[in-house]
Amino acid sequence: MTAVTLVGQGPGSPGAADDREQSPAVRERFARLYQRPVALEVDGLTRTFEGEQGPVTALDRISFRAHRRELLCIIGPSGCGKSTLGRIIAGLDDPSGGSVKVDGHEVHGPGRDRGMVFQGYTLFPWRTVLGNVMFGLQVSGESRTQAEAEAMPWVEMVGLGPFASAYPYQLSGGMKQRVAIARALANRPRILIMDEPFAALDAQTRAQMQSYLVQIWRQVDVTIVFVTHDLDEAVFLADRVVVMGAHPGRILEIVEVPVPRPREEACYESALFGATRKHLEMLIHHDRPKAVDKLPIVRMTPVGDEVE
Ligand code: ADP
Ligand code: MG
Repeated sequence: MTAVTLVGQGPGSPGAADDREQSPAVRERFARLYQRPVALEVDGLTRTFEGEQGPVTALDRISFRAHRRELLCIIGPSGCGKSTLGRIIAGLDDPSGGSVKVDGHEVHGPGRDRGMVFQGYTLFPWRTVLGNVMFGLQVSGESRTQAEAEAMPWVEMVGLGPFASAYPYQLSGGMKQRVAIARALANRPRILIMDEPFAALDAQTRAQMQSYLVQIWRQVDVTIVFVTHDLDEAVFLADRVVVMGAHPGRILEIVEVPVPRPREEACYESALFGATRKHLEMLIHHDRPKAVDKLPIVRMTPVGDEVE
């Protein structure tokens, strides 16, 4: 299966396939990825909402697959349906048509096979770091001792061992999101859905969190669906990027990221990274409706007192 299709571009144009050519090692890595079982299958997913001027199609026949332990990013402009898609996969919303399957089983409502991390901090303020990570385990009937023993390695994995008994108000934004990741993973989901989880963080913390996420993902048997509108974030993290367009929300292309792993911060400077980013930009840019960019002239200064 090849997931790269080309949309109207010649060789040498920004992000052309030549510039994004995969090394043999990367090609082999994708071949191995596609050999893995399909963990998530989204098939013909449609979601319409009742708007004031009639029905609004938020998602229009979305279909893609993620393979076991793949890190799949979903990008697209605001309003293209990324959160709706994430919520439907999580079982927090129902599609108007189509289906979502996890390990071949159709999803109806939320389940322990899927975990979610949102942009906003969703920790319980009255629970400690460990208490937060234990929560799902206790809800599913584990004793306190059992839940504690099971939760602690996850707290350690996200680097918060020394903060296990701290409360959320004592943590930075990045630390809170690490707790949220540990809490979601402690339930051993098959799919981890992350909806712009780092969007509220400052640039430096965000880069740090991206690196942490990759380190965590390497160690866990989980398939990650990571929603973002940040192209650099998508190229840094993803095996493949599902590029969505808006009105209606649909898939423009599914792009294999040719940047080899492991990816360090320096990979941002690489030509492959740049070409991939440009390609994503081009896809999204071409889909964007031409906005009116000139404001009406309402003069508030005397003629002749020009600043340009
Ligand atoms: P994104 O996360 O990509 O910014 P969303 O999934 O939040 O996009 O929204 C996609 C579209 O669906 C938007 O046009 C939004 O206004 C509409 N939408 C989302 N949720 C609802 C809802 N509960 N009721 C009505 N319209 C909604
Ligand atoms: Mg959103």
